[in-house]
Amino acid sequence: MQSFVDEEVSVNITVFLGAPGSGKGTQAKILSSDGKYIHLSTGDILRNAIKTQTPLGKEAKVFMDKGELVPDATVISLIEDTLKTLSPDAQIILDGFPRTVPQAEALDAKGTTKVKSAIFFDIPNSALIERLTGRRVCRNCGQPYHVKHMPPKKAGVCDVCSGEVYQRSDDTEEVVVRRLEVFGSQNQGLLDYYSRLNKLWNLSADRSPQEIQKSLIEVLK
Ligand SMILES: [Zn+2]
Repeated sequence: MQSFVDEEVSVNITVFLGAPGSGKGTQAKILSSDGKYIHLSTGDILRNAIKTQTPLGKEAKVFMDKGELVPDATVISLIEDTLKTLSPDAQIILDGFPRTVPQAEALDAKGTTKVKSAIFFDIPNSALIERLTGRRVCRNCGQPYHVKHMPPKKAGVCDVCSGEVYQRSDDTEEVVVRRLEVFGSQNQGLLDYYSRLNKLWNLSADRSPQEIQKSLIEVLK
């Protein structure tokens, strides 16, 4: 098992768990907007490490260029390096990490790293599939749309720039269903892990962002 190095890492961590489309990233962004929480997403940390060409970033890029998942050891080192730069009383929301039980164990391996709670954004697969397969995006300016909840005024045409509004290959039903299956099998292990530690909160995420935010603030108190 990988573990964090012996240097003191002492931060308060809340882990956000949830499928793609569950809204956890949106909620983390809202919570961090007033500076009380620091939102750490694995995606952002990876992109930043690659952009600044750190040794770990270069390592991660080799895997990402091949379309492969970055190995646990590399991701763990990246998170560890980032946590070390934060002040001891920082309130962290980890989004996209841990993704596997070995990652969760590595995060807990040092007694000084405190995962206070793990919040699972619980939402039925049928609702996720509707959210994800309904997504559209402008090919030209990147403006997001949703066929049901936020369609462009004229079908297939971007309101902002008149570019073509299309469906990403990632958002087709076949790909979405496969992604959710992969997520579900990995996530169950994490739910069991945090449940055993009495740190798991189930948050009903098939609601409006405002309602979810209200419940979240209660849980985080
Ligand atoms: Zn556009």
